Order: sequence, then C-alpha cells, then structure tokens
Amino acid sequence: MARFMHGIILLGGPGAGKGTQAVLLARHLNLPHISSGDLFRENMKLQTEVGRLVRSSMDSGRLVPDEVTIRMVRERLLLPDCEHGFILDGFPRTIPQGDVLDGMLSELNKSVTVVLYYRVRERMLLERLSHRWTCRDCSAAFSYESVPPREGCKQAVCTGELFRRADDDPQTQALRIREYDEKTAPLVDYYSRKGLLVTVNGEHTIEYVHRQTLERIHEGRDFYQ
Ligand code: AMP
Repeated sequence: MARFMHGIILLGGPGAGKGTQAVLLARHLNLPHISSGDLFRENMKLQTEVGRLVRSSMDSGRLVPDEVTIRMVRERLLLPDCEHGFILDGFPRTIPQGDVLDGMLSELNKSVTVVLYYRVRERMLLERLSHRWTCRDCSAAFSYESVPPREGCKQAVCTGELFRRADDDPQTQALRIREYDEKTAPLVDYYSRKGLLVTVNGEHTIEYVHRQTLERIHEGRDFYQ
C-alpha cells in the first residue's frame, strides 16, 4: 500500500506569513509544524544549553550557526510524529542547511516533496514586522490592526499574553532582512532547479493565501510514494 508522505518546506522573508500559513496547513494535513525559530525560543525559555548558545544571535537578528541549528532540527525530525511527513518553517535558511537536509532525509527514507515560497515585497515585510505581536504560549503572530494586544491570543483555545519579539524592533528587522537576502533567498533558486518550488503571492489576506497554498500543492502533484 502507498505510504502517505508530505515533506513540505516554507520559504519567505521574515514577516512573509510562513508561521501563520504553517499552522493552517499543519491543521489541514494533520502534520507536525516544525518551526526552527519556535524551537530556539523554547530552548531559551527553558534555559537549555542550546538556548544559551543561540540567545545573542537571535536577539541581534543574525542566523544561528548551522551546526547548532542542524543538530536541533535533526533531533526533531527523528520524533515519531514525523513518520508520515512534516512542515518545516524557517529551516533550511542557508544552502548548506539545504544540502544537509537532503542527506538527512534520504538516510531516513524521506524527501522534500514541495517547497512553498511566499513572495512578499520588502516594504510589506517591514510594515508587517512593525505591527506584529506574538503569543507567549503558542507563538501565533497577530497584526496590531486585527487584534488589539490587550485582548490576548485568539488562536483556537489559546488565551496567551501577546508581546513584541525583541528581534522585531526596527534596527533588528533591517538586519534580519539583510540576512535573508544574503543567505536564505538563494534557496529559492536552489529548490527551483530541483523542480520543487511553488510560488505563492503572500501579500493577500491569510485566508486567501491559505486557499492558494492548498490549490497549489494539490495541483498535479503526487504525494504518494
Ligand atoms: P523565526 O522565528 O523563523 O523568525 O526565527 C527567529 C530567529 O531564529 C532567526 O532570526 C535566527 O536567529 C534563528 N533561526 C531560526 N531558524 C534558523 C535557521 N534555520 N538557521 C539559523 N538561524 C535560525
């Protein structure tokens, strides 16, 4: 019998909506949502060794060194809930991470089946980051205009407190976008050459982008291996 398997990567600049779309897609496909940024933030909260190692990179908006990131994501991909697939949000973020991911997945008899690239112009990325509030409990992101922060999280049953991420401040935003342009944007070409890239216009509403995402991943693609 065919084994159902989605190996999905979400690409896009900071504020492109990867996290928000990943949550919706994970719910729709019943797959684990693996966000490297959330894993790092969890490690910082729990004051683990990884948390101590990554704090300065994260607070300044720089990428965490590949070795630390790869080790953490590898451990996560080995957990049983990834058996039938996964949604990677924020990983890979460099070409070496992409190469290592390929090797790691083939060892596990898995593969990347689609890379969703959420295209959003820089002006809009900056605007979104300036208005972004994040839930302390579930990491959901909200725009100041749609959810007044004092009302707290509106994600499913969560009622967590909303806060501004330290790396969403204006100076750090600019650096994160530079890091993205230099180190992460080359992955768009990398996955396009592998025939895996699907581009989605990420400038529309959350619901519209979600519908586009579902249409695009189901269009002529065979997820059965
Ligand atoms: P995010 O929550 O995806 O915006 O990530 C927040 C921060 O976590 C980034 O600015 C980096 O410092 C770090 N980070 C997340 N994913 C990676 C990755 N794949 N490689 C290196 N650093 C990462």
